[in-house]
Amino acid sequence: MNIEANLREINDKIKANATGPVTLVAVSKMVTCDEVRVAMEHGQTVFGENRVQELQKKYSDIGDSATWHLIGHLQTNKVKYIIDKASLIHSVDSTRLADEISKCAVAAGKQMPCLLQVNVSKEESKSGVYMEEVDRMVEYMMGLAGIRLQGLMTMAPAAATDSELHKIFSQLNKKYLDIKQEYNHNKDICMLSMGMTHDFEIALQEGANIIRVGTGVFH
Ligand SMILES: *Cc1c(COP(=O)(O)O)cnc(C)c1O
Repeated sequence: MNIEANLREINDKIKANATGPVTLVAVSKMVTCDEVRVAMEHGQTVFGENRVQELQKKYSDIGDSATWHLIGHLQTNKVKYIIDKASLIHSVDSTRLADEISKCAVAAGKQMPCLLQVNVSKEESKSGVYMEEVDRMVEYMMGLAGIRLQGLMTMAPAAATDSELHKIFSQLNKKYLDIKQEYNHNKDICMLSMGMTHDFEIALQEGANIIRVGTGVFH
């Protein structure tokens, strides 16, 4: 594993494909805290975990010297464990989960930065709301005291072709820009999280400004 070279390569590809500033989330699920520390030594600051327990564990070792994002499906009964540890939740996918996050955030005296996860291609195995539910969910989340809605997130199907990926990502970018426009008094809407190791270059070309790269960093 050469984390330094991997990060350099990814950051070069970001420069070559991005249309503006981009946040690289290094997805550290299944890697050790020592490997996270190596990435930190080479300038990486933001890490993504898809499981609450692993985020808690890494947080208790490394703490606030890194920034932690929760990127995977979140069960309502686990929200309380990460409300003071995650600085962004990418994976809000139901009104029930949004309610619970808001409740826990209010109890902790904060507003939780969140993204709404969208299942653009209606894959059965993936979470996220369908495109036609996005407007209603955005409106709902905007009304919750403990939630600071910052944008949209998606995961594309692993088997999608390049042209399918372009289509999926550009569809979500269009939706993101519509929401930004509709709530343009609200500068909070500024994040479009899409792209992983195999498709982040296409996602960047289609307007992503947060990418979540695991294998690409830690291999
Ligand atoms: C694991 C994971 C990633 C990173 O996947 P790689 O293919 O390893 O880059 C991104 N987003 C989510 C939600 C994940 O669970």
